[in-house]
Amino acid sequence: MDHLPDWDFFDDDSPHDECGVFAIFAPERDVARLTFFALFALQHRGQESAGIAVSDQSHLTVYKEMGLLSQVFKEQTLRSLTGQIAIGHVRYSTTGSSEWRNAQPIHRDRNGSAIALAHNGNLVNTDELRRDLVARGVVLSSTSDTEIIAALLAEHPSGDILDALRDVIPRLRGAFSAVVLTESSVVGFRDPYGVRPLVLGRLDDRFVLASETSALDIIGAKVVREVEPGEMVWIDEDGYHFERVVERQGEALCIFEFIYFARPDSVMSGQTLYSARSRMGQELARESPVDADLVIPVPDTGNSAAIGYSSRSGIPFGEGLVKNRYIGRTFIDPDADLRKLGIRMKLNPLSSTIRGRRLVVVDDSIVRGNTTSRLVHMLFEAGAAEVHLRISSPPIVFPCFYGIDMASQDEFIAFERTVEEIAAELGATSLAYLSLDGLLRATRLDPDRFCAACFSGEYPCEVPEELRRSKFRYEGAQGR
Ligand code: SF4
Repeated sequence: MDHLPDWDFFDDDSPHDECGVFAIFAPERDVARLTFFALFALQHRGQESAGIAVSDQSHLTVYKEMGLLSQVFKEQTLRSLTGQIAIGHVRYSTTGSSEWRNAQPIHRDRNGSAIALAHNGNLVNTDELRRDLVARGVVLSSTSDTEIIAALLAEHPSGDILDALRDVIPRLRGAFSAVVLTESSVVGFRDPYGVRPLVLGRLDDRFVLASETSALDIIGAKVVREVEPGEMVWIDEDGYHFERVVERQGEALCIFEFIYFARPDSVMSGQTLYSARSRMGQELARESPVDADLVIPVPDTGNSAAIGYSSRSGIPFGEGLVKNRYIGRTFIDPDADLRKLGIRMKLNPLSSTIRGRRLVVVDDSIVRGNTTSRLVHMLFEAGAAEVHLRISSPPIVFPCFYGIDMASQDEFIAFERTVEEIAAELGATSLAYLSLDGLLRATRLDPDRFCAACFSGEYPCEVPEELRRSKFRYEGAQGR
């Protein structure tokens, strides 16, 4: 499939995450089924394609397709994926377009055997690595950076995958949390800044790896510990083994994991994200109070922060917008008449709650602002007396190079606009963003543990000049 509908039609105004990964070594269990359910808990991280690779200790089998997990996998397919070790992936495309050949896991022959690889993140030195592989006569069939990592491993002369990883991982620049399946083991590794999450879990006396703890919960696994930045971990018959392969470069977990990406029931760095988001709402209420009648969230991602705003401000919390939970992503392109309904395909206002009320509307972030302005318009149409937007993160003014789809700088509504100008553009009665200090305080973690470059322009790892130029509006505004 090489054409997909305009996802923005269904999407909200938040940045998009791009992937969730899972891996399991459990010879006694139905690993494909467990991977399927774990991916279910990671579906929010990517809805464009899904895939599972299994090993029966002599062959690898990969099944992947465009669509939601429930569209891709049927009972019969899962039954055919027999093996003792597996990895799985859900994808939102950032590098590489949205088409089947970019779906993961990526399979590659290697020294007479095979590997499959699934990756969450974005490399910033893809061009350099691609040039090197092509010069060596390596054929690449997709446009994704995941295939480049797989090809580097496949072409490595060592028969030992761990040796190959020890050589290849230090050559990768950017954000990556990845899992590799071989015939007899699984390996996970995380970039030296830890931009994307990866956690090791225990399932009885076997082990699993996942992007989030919610994927462990759903299969009854318990957290062992997070994979540290720059670490590799492999799981085999003897259990798990950690090894540092790249010098740790501090830590720069993407702050959007805390704001929006990860599920509220996931735990990262010891913090439950629901509680952290609720504290963001409390900070927002402290920094930007307003005289109003009702606090409503933009569901679902604004829920926890709206509860926090309500509890701190004393303004009652209510549901003023009902979300169509099943819209997900679809391959059916809406016709022109449906397109006019726009945001109502996803959110519908509860007029009886909204009419005549002064609303505080809490959302997690605004990127371009298109959906937010339609939302404000819809709330006024439904009878709202005032719409005070409160955003539980700072204005996004710098692009992301680490795998988050946010468009280029001049498309951000906050780019070269004051908050008052943005409020006017959106048609809101008032607008306030949470400050960066307030946001970091709400995490209750050391501020130096996060990447917050899309707010501050301080990129944790160097971004090549040509990549910078592709996303920055002006040469003079290229962040630090
Ligand atoms: S630039 Fe923003 S979205 Fe990208 S990794 Fe850093 S905090 Fe996350």
